[in-house]
Amino acid sequence: MIKIFFQDKNTIFKARIDYVLNFIESHPLIENKLKFSRNATLAYDLTCNYGTPNSDGFFIPGQDLIFSNNHQNTFTNLVTNQYTYQSLKLYSVSSEKEGSAIFIKNKEFQFDIIETIFFHISRIEEWYCEDRQLDECNMMKSAEQFLVKNQLYHLPVIDHLIFAFANAIGLKLTPQKTTFRITHDIDEVFQNPSLFSTIRRTGGILWRRQKLSAIPKIWSAHFHQRNEYNTFDWMLSDQSNIEKCIYFLVGGTTRYDTPYPLDTDEMKTIFRLCKERNYQIGIHPSYDCWRNKELLKTEKERLEQQINLPIIISRQHYLHFDFKKTPELLIQNKIQEDSSIGYRDKIGFRSGTGFGYRLYNFKNEAPFDFVEVPLIFMDSALFKETDHDLRKTTEQWNNFLAENKFHTKITFNFHNSRFYDAHINKIPLKKWYQKLLSSI
Ligand SMILES: [Zn+2]
Repeated sequence: MIKIFFQDKNTIFKARIDYVLNFIESHPLIENKLKFSRNATLAYDLTCNYGTPNSDGFFIPGQDLIFSNNHQNTFTNLVTNQYTYQSLKLYSVSSEKEGSAIFIKNKEFQFDIIETIFFHISRIEEWYCEDRQLDECNMMKSAEQFLVKNQLYHLPVIDHLIFAFANAIGLKLTPQKTTFRITHDIDEVFQNPSLFSTIRRTGGILWRRQKLSAIPKIWSAHFHQRNEYNTFDWMLSDQSNIEKCIYFLVGGTTRYDTPYPLDTDEMKTIFRLCKERNYQIGIHPSYDCWRNKELLKTEKERLEQQINLPIIISRQHYLHFDFKKTPELLIQNKIQEDSSIGYRDKIGFRSGTGFGYRLYNFKNEAPFDFVEVPLIFMDSALFKETDHDLRKTTEQWNNFLAENKFHTKITFNFHNSRFYDAHINKIPLKKWYQKLLSSI
């Protein structure tokens, strides 16, 4: 354990700095091997000076850019600079472009790592996002976000930074293999092979100029009346060494929602399988729940009645999450863990980390009382990025996993309904998924 005396003169944003220090201390790569204190009378091993240099100890420059009350135009003009530490490349959040440099010189870190961490994990750019940056669901467009604009979303920039910082101050961490968490959103349970939906699907393929070879497969499913979405028997893993969660959509009336009855024999079998295979069952709140406490409550209770267990985990359908509203509703409904912070149209890291942590409440200047485990790799997001192209999809799948073998945690989301979409586009998602499970 290394005890660090942390010295800084920033009294206005003390809560934000404490939030970052706490994030560092409890980061899973560090495993409580490091402790910060602001109290010089307690015993410590080294000093870390933030903002004001001191002849003794390490120094982190303070740029007073993110720790500011003036957010007008701040975030759209931010840039990144690259720094190296051993074999890792690290990225700052800065106001001006500079050449690449080394991470630490004579105990002086070369950029404001405290603000950089805060920027990504607090999601301040989404909290204070401008109206013109919103998408059709009233969330910040991914293309407007810093990590996407700077082409950094395929890397857990914060997990890398934590690893480098800890080693730079003397913790001898060895690279840890990335861990996987398997999750499923159950948006639809019954793929309707009716004549109407088969014609609609055929039209969709022609309209989106997808592979024509998919069309005979859809008609075959129609003639044989197969429910191609019933993948539960092989999709639900019985491996005990995996973290596994499943979220059920149980309501909703918008065009984004596709609720299904819960009291059928088919659903009873699915719930039983989930329990037998030790899945943690969560709620997948429908589209409008993001700002509606009562709706969320009703949906959660309806699912609890069916499964006979209290629900404490959640992921918003459509990842429809309002930073100013949704966290409060989750807390009021006794949700302890959410997993909605991911991109809907690409795979990657939205807050720079794959590990669970607490989001920041800018109203109270304090962390929220639930854990956010970011969603990193969602099948539908991958297909959005590659337009169901087999070569592109294969490349993305392989490259992403190869790039991220160490230093982070990857939460996957495989929809029961997407394996069929993949199949009719000749993408062997089922094979990849099974290979992934057996690699854990
Ligand atoms: Zn969903």
